[in-house]
Amino acid sequence: MDRRDFIKLTVVTGASATLASCGNPEHQLIRFVPDDETTPGVAEIKHSICPLCRGGCGVDVRVMEADAEVVREGKTGVMRMAVAKKLEGNPAHPISQGKLCARGQASIQLTYHPDRIAHPLKRTGPRGSGQFEAITWDAAIAELVSHLDALAAAGDQKALAFLSRPRTGLRGELVAQVLAAFGAAPPITYELFGEDVLRRANLLSFGRDQLPTFDLARTRYLVSFGADFLGTWNSPVAQNAAYGLMRQGRPGVRAKFVQLEARMSQTGANADEWLPVRPGTEGVAALGIAHVMIAAKLRPASAGGRAGALIEGWAAGLPDYTPQRVEQATGISPARLERLAREFAAGEPAAAIIGGAALAHTNGLFQALAVNALNALAGSVGAPGGLTFTPQANLMNANARGRTSPRAVRELATALLSAPKPRVQLLMLDDTNPVFATPSAWRVREAFEKVPVIVSFGQFVDETSALADLILPDHSFLESWVDGMPESGAIVAVASVAAPVMKPLHQTRAMPDVLLEVARKLHKPLGAAVPWQTFDEMLHKAFASLPAPKDGDAWTAAQAQGGWWGEPAAATKAEAADAHQRPAAAAEPRFDGAPNEYPFHFLPYASTQFMDGSTAHLPWLQEMPDPLTSGMWSSWIEINPKTADRLKVATGDVVEIASQHGTLRAPAYVSPGIAPDVVAMPVGQGHQTFTRFASGRGENPVRILAPLSDTETGALAWAATRIKLTRVGGPDGSLVLFGTSMPEHPEYGR
Ligand code: SF4
Repeated sequence: MDRRDFIKLTVVTGASATLASCGNPEHQLIRFVPDDETTPGVAEIKHSICPLCRGGCGVDVRVMEADAEVVREGKTGVMRMAVAKKLEGNPAHPISQGKLCARGQASIQLTYHPDRIAHPLKRTGPRGSGQFEAITWDAAIAELVSHLDALAAAGDQKALAFLSRPRTGLRGELVAQVLAAFGAAPPITYELFGEDVLRRANLLSFGRDQLPTFDLARTRYLVSFGADFLGTWNSPVAQNAAYGLMRQGRPGVRAKFVQLEARMSQTGANADEWLPVRPGTEGVAALGIAHVMIAAKLRPASAGGRAGALIEGWAAGLPDYTPQRVEQATGISPARLERLAREFAAGEPAAAIIGGAALAHTNGLFQALAVNALNALAGSVGAPGGLTFTPQANLMNANARGRTSPRAVRELATALLSAPKPRVQLLMLDDTNPVFATPSAWRVREAFEKVPVIVSFGQFVDETSALADLILPDHSFLESWVDGMPESGAIVAVASVAAPVMKPLHQTRAMPDVLLEVARKLHKPLGAAVPWQTFDEMLHKAFASLPAPKDGDAWTAAQAQGGWWGEPAAATKAEAADAHQRPAAAAEPRFDGAPNEYPFHFLPYASTQFMDGSTAHLPWLQEMPDPLTSGMWSSWIEINPKTADRLKVATGDVVEIASQHGTLRAPAYVSPGIAPDVVAMPVGQGHQTFTRFASGRGENPVRILAPLSDTETGALAWAATRIKLTRVGGPDGSLVLFGTSMPEHPEYGR
């Protein structure tokens, strides 16, 4: 027996024992022998990638030695090891440019969260009860292999479904290749605030199935139709950096910025001019601006090329978008519209952005095409200061994995509910929570309960993984090989990659490596179709194909700087076969609920802290005041002061909102930054099962949404629900605003 084996486990006494909860020997922690060398007191900077939104920011991690609480061989103990201490933006990375947003900063808590799943779990109680027992990795993998073998033996490989959030990198590609080799359908990807409508519009307008990048640093006039591009939309860190240059980066030039939206966002609060417009009419406003520009001959009526064809297509309809007609639809006065149009035309280069709620209507595609046409008319497509597309590294065609399949989750739920024998016999889940992030009307939870076997790779028990029979917990991103190919935010192609920055704290395993091991252990192994032993081997082979620096190879260079960036060897052909030059037919938005019974538009919005709710378990983000309301640790319902006066509602009073699909109660927040006929609510709270910090806190507005979708793409029209609102009582103390009603509670740390 060598020294390492001999002192494998020793009981900690003295100072280290203070890490345990008390002096009871049963609670004493075990000190494990370190399995890596560290230099005391010396920090090392390692690269990683923020996993918390599609932006894909490059991260620098400060790593130092420290005592960390770990799980080894089923026992909890303490180990001296190199651990992540602080995250910052990687200064060399083209997206983050040395910056991170608050979510990125808080992402370190994913690793140290006290409610992480520390080892594989097998369900013991009724489904959804949260009763699991710990099992070994050997047992967990053997069980998953046996389920897959049973499907293969029955020739029923299509009964496997894999559901994940969209990923632009090779992790998604690995999943897709394993599924294809097994004979299953491609992975289904779902994201509440997916951008399928805008990608589709860009495909139709410009031949690019991709989100745009705006050269804000050189823009002189910017109009945004609902895009919270400084807070939650697309690539916020890159957009913040460019916005800073747009406003202050050029001596003597400060671009004007106008925001049109029904509820003031963090971005709207920064605008020179904020215009509330009726929900679903942003496209009409864009075409009204275009009308004035064409009627006054402020721009040529043709921009040439595909974009020119687009605007010519619209031109036939433009005479109808007179300022008077635009006023009827949007509420913007003719004088204001004309002034905006003249300023926009004079502000060369000018650009128009659309995003967020403006696209979340039944006519979302029409709205996006209208704004694309305005950009084409302004000559800003592909021009300095305008709209462009980030070149794509597109390793192994993996960018396609970053696209969502908006109809697929709903169709899967419908199919499961309607068939006597569920079409899916085995459902695998990776980093997605559709039970929380889909409307109750889709009945996703009920549908998933019919699936005989559910396997999750979750790091936490959330509403969807709570239904799993087997949980094979993934490493945190800081413990894993990570990669990503951002589709937007830079002027060069970016393929980020990073090695683990620290050893795993718990008995977790990286999902891609587990999948590869399962592929090898199948009764009929997938063999040459999935040729990699490990995920980093796949990354290595893919990155080796990129153009190399003069004095090295691309793989080594990419690891050294946190990724590869430059011009891809071959231009990406993002143009799809069905791209065609046509404007969508003008479409009125449809809303669920009759106006006389449901008088308010309901606007759930991506919260700066929680986005779609997937970061609500991070206590730093719960503690972070909302930038507009200062709300923390709670939900609230935003209403206009006029509406509040009429209904005799004050901030803090409990109100009930009801759609045709459900009701919820939360405290009111009276705000002038919202139109009188609109009621808004941040998404993110209202979890039933999502760690000690998020469970049982606030309400989930997604639950009561109508199952309407954009007519062409099938994307959820999450801004198309009408509601009624009633005051049901005075303050119940649940609204926490910064500096005011701060409750005494251990979880607030005060
Ligand atoms: S924008 Fe924020 S959350 Fe998104 S990747 Fe960057 S740091 Fe992470």
